Amino acid sequence: MKPDSMKLVLASGNRGKLVEMRDILGDFGVELVAQGDLGIDDIEETGTTFVENALLKARHAARMSGLPALGDDSGLCVDALGGAPGLYSARYAGAHGDASANIAKLLDALRDIPDEQRGAHFHCTIVLLRSADDPAPLIAEGRWHGRILHAPRGANGFGYDPVFLDVERGRSAAEIDAAMKSRVSHRGLALARLRDLSRA
Ligand code: IMP
Repeated sequence: MKPDSMKLVLASGNRGKLVEMRDILGDFGVELVAQGDLGIDDIEETGTTFVENALLKARHAARMSGLPALGDDSGLCVDALGGAPGLYSARYAGAHGDASANIAKLLDALRDIPDEQRGAHFHCTIVLLRSADDPAPLIAEGRWHGRILHAPRGANGFGYDPVFLDVERGRSAAEIDAAMKSRVSHRGLALARLRDLSRA
């Protein structure tokens, strides 16, 4: 990938992800187009790993658009829940992408769990396909470690951000600003690694 003036389609209908990724990639001259803006619908995430789902999404977007595509699959993995909701984070409470219901279900599942056992991390796998038939996709991962709060805090970000505490900064992911989140988050790290891979 040549970072200057490259047009990529983002294989996701998640506006929160789009805003974050545009922010990070804008600095590198990459124009990120949402698949929805090209009339491309989400496909079913039938994989059983983050990387499979990221590939499925990216391949679908590349095939439908004829452009290189970025596929991102991410989720929140909670230690006390054996890694759940993990791959199923977006639909933890049933409906896809209902963040308030997902948070309510998570806080309920952790109701009696003390702080020291509320460890969790966000995981992100990002795949870059230069074309739908690219046999050698670039694949990068990032993790953001923290702890699940007892109640939501902050108004930034999306998804589980209000209940995810960045322990080092003492703030929830919804209390830190976008620029900081891009530097320290699972998605920011994965994108930075992907950039390095693309230059190698
Ligand atoms: P998917 O990658 O589209 O399957 O969805 C990932 C889901 O994980 C999102 O809908 C959120 O619920 C959650 N998630 C992933 N990254 C973040 C984040 O940066 N903040 C908050 N929630 C996230």
